[in-house]
Amino acid sequence: MTPEEFRAHAHELVDWMADYMAGVEQYPVRPRTAPGEIAAKLPGAAPESGEPMADILADFERDILPGMTHWQHPSFFAYFPANSSPPSVLAEMLTATLAAQCMLWQTSPAATEMETRMMAWLRDMLSLPDHFLGVIQDSATSATLAALLIARERATGWRANEDGLAALGAEGTRLTVYVSEEAHSSIEKTMKVAGYGKANLRRIATDEAFAMRPEALARTIANDIADGATPACVVASIGGTGVGAMDPIAPIGEICQTHGIWLHVDAAWAGSALILPEWRHLADGVELADSFVFNPHKWLLTNFDCSAFYVADPSALERTLSLVPEYLRSRESGRVTDYQNWSVPLGRRFRALKLWFVIRSYGVEGLREILRRHIALASDLFDEVSGTPGFEIMSPLRLALFSFRCHPEGMNDEDALDALNRTLIERLNDSGSVYLTQNLVRDRFAIRFSIGQTSTQQRHVRQAWELIKETAESLSKTF
Ligand SMILES: *Cc1c(COP(=O)(O)O)cnc(C)c1O
Repeated sequence: MTPEEFRAHAHELVDWMADYMAGVEQYPVRPRTAPGEIAAKLPGAAPESGEPMADILADFERDILPGMTHWQHPSFFAYFPANSSPPSVLAEMLTATLAAQCMLWQTSPAATEMETRMMAWLRDMLSLPDHFLGVIQDSATSATLAALLIARERATGWRANEDGLAALGAEGTRLTVYVSEEAHSSIEKTMKVAGYGKANLRRIATDEAFAMRPEALARTIANDIADGATPACVVASIGGTGVGAMDPIAPIGEICQTHGIWLHVDAAWAGSALILPEWRHLADGVELADSFVFNPHKWLLTNFDCSAFYVADPSALERTLSLVPEYLRSRESGRVTDYQNWSVPLGRRFRALKLWFVIRSYGVEGLREILRRHIALASDLFDEVSGTPGFEIMSPLRLALFSFRCHPEGMNDEDALDALNRTLIERLNDSGSVYLTQNLVRDRFAIRFSIGQTSTQQRHVRQAWELIKETAESLSKTF
């Protein structure tokens, strides 16, 4: 493709992108695609000779787009948002064009130095401690993996990297990790990967507000020590995925300090809300943490992937992950930050650029306004659902998330209620007008309502609620 051909196609695509953004509401939020349906439209083998771009674009619209879930649809209320924004997309166009590998300072000095500065901007926007230093990871899972690896090294006297799993099993060095019952599945996954073994994960009981009980944590740690285990890490959540559980960081941090345990804070979703002074208290005690992660790619208008990982002591991170063969040495080694030493993958995209575009384009106050709008919309809907007969709140409002179920008067068989709500959510999602996801709350089926798409306005929430009421009413009659 010549630069002139590229220019023509790019202009055409930019028009397509702007039309998509303006018209995304015309698509069903979640497609009704059957498994294998899209694969059946794709040729079984790669073409031997090149095809015209016009054909490729036409096939994209005809065959691929109908199989997409539209995460940027304003009626997307599922999971957590992965919100994006026009400035973020513009920056990604530049990142893709430069196509730089930003693993070392030398392989793109501007990318490294901008990453350092953007991590400092974000740290200050969230009022995280001044001594936290950050690095961008692809996902919170990768950041949590890095934290568990450092905790493993620290707890084994830096021997596990040398001696392998033998360092974890020998003479009472069975390493244990602590999370609440509400913690994200990524922690269990990273424990498997980091060699701890799932059996050494301790799930600490939560209180009636779904927060980890510090006294139960202290008791479990004491029992494990008495049993000859070595507690290595506690992962506390600010905003768990199921119900947005908020663990009390300060008392958990004090317990960790007493025993020399690594404290990692998972704020993947809710971390973005710490830019709001009125919510910063959710992170009280974070100065006791050894590491902290949040995802600008969830709720800070920066498209996937961009996960901000902070450590109080980068030398421990580098000691765990750094490996510098001759071909990665440079004249500046030791005098500059080579971010490949701060993450598991060697290769790194220029992800700081989209943060720079987003933060400059909206300004911190502009970002605050959008998050406040989401929280206010969720709060209004929460009040509405609470006051509507035939509905029951299943978990309290946490920022822009709560869960509920349809509970017709007089219907008290729990299994029937589960079945009713399971059918309800499928009907709602199959309608294409909204997308919601479910959760088990204290073992009962609940529907999560999570607001955070960049362009979601009051009318989208109102329409969703009207649809939920109508669908629930007609279903209740048949149950
Ligand atoms: C989304 C989420 C994760 C996982 O984030 P990825 O970036 O997809 O790895 C971890 N913890 C919590 C609380 C989350 O909400």
